[in-house]
Amino acid sequence: MSFETLGLDPKLLSALVKAGFTSPTPVQEAAIPKALQGQDLMVSAQTGSGKTAAFMLPALNRIAGMPANKGRGVQVLVLTPTRELAMQVADATKAYGAHIPDLRTAVVVGGMPYGAQLKALSRRVDVLVATPGRLIDHLQARRVNLSTVQTLVLDEADRMLDMGFIEDIETIVAATPADRQTLLFSATLDGTIAKLARDMLNEPLRIEV
Ligand code: AMP
Repeated sequence: MSFETLGLDPKLLSALVKAGFTSPTPVQEAAIPKALQGQDLMVSAQTGSGKTAAFMLPALNRIAGMPANKGRGVQVLVLTPTRELAMQVADATKAYGAHIPDLRTAVVVGGMPYGAQLKALSRRVDVLVATPGRLIDHLQARRVNLSTVQTLVLDEADRMLDMGFIEDIETIVAATPADRQTLLFSATLDGTIAKLARDMLNEPLRIEV
């Protein structure tokens, strides 16, 4: 199996060549074609499985296929439990999106000064990577508009629940369009995650690799 056969845009394929990725990992092989069809997914995947590319490549594929990339607002929102994971996801986004002209990625996380985040949010943002608490601050102050989100990713959803972010997540999800695509990644897909998925996903396909 190759990345070509998964149906990704040439702009993403060339970035993958540059990143040195030759073939998809099992979670990428299972998730990418389904996500490209627009399906909601709940995926059990560990760190190191290649899960970031499994959600970010299909999320970026929609942007890559558009003729001009201007003024459409936040199209991809990724929620992560920690600042460190948010930074890693943002770095991966920049690498995978390196050949999408003028792709803008912003990071909004707790424990960091507001200044740079305010500046980033005042400009055009295509992909927003955030931890729930800080994003709520910006949302309530109306510094970010999530009504244009097409793909919502809940990364390490089990850890976000363990950290008590459920209410923040509910508030954030309510600020996104009902017809968005939602991709949930979690180490486990047990009771509480299954409930979250029932509330926030639309007929999700369950993937366990
Ligand atoms: P993740 O599970 O998303 O944290 O990814 C773990 C590591 O695997 C990261 O350093 C990625 O750059 C790398 N990686 C992801 N997908 C592939 C792939 N298909 N081929 C080679 N390396 C990959």
